[in-house]
Amino acid sequence: MKGWIFSRTKASREKNGPSDPIQFVSCQFNGSKCVNQRAKINQCLFKSHDSFVDKEYDDSIEELKTAYAATHDILGSPCASCAQLFRTRITQSMEQIHGELHRMTTGFFRWDCYKPSYEVANTMINEFRKNA
Ligand SMILES: [Zn+2]
Repeated sequence: MKGWIFSRTKASREKNGPSDPIQFVSCQFNGSKCVNQRAKINQCLFKSHDSFVDKEYDDSIEELKTAYAATHDILGSPCASCAQLFRTRITQSMEQIHGELHRMTTGFFRWDCYKPSYEVANTMINEFRKNA
């Protein structure tokens, strides 16, 4: 695969290990233009995953929002395609949160306390999809 490799942030909490959520493989500019954004986004994805595991969904969503905002910095640059790929990865995480919250707020054993978080996730995912 050409471009970037996305990995699931399986319980790994290492910050600079080989298990970065978005691993560098290739970029038209060898990563020189988008390296800072990638580092920032990876950090957000890690934090988001940690919060997700701890069921701190609001924090988890907030990190993805920050990560998504970071892609704006390189959107118009030669690394526009990298930005797109980063967005794809961030959207994947948001879909994971969204799916979990949907599951928790519907059905017989629903947890209404997570409803506000679900609403936020719903709004965010729609926005992400719109810009995808
Ligand atoms: Zn790039």
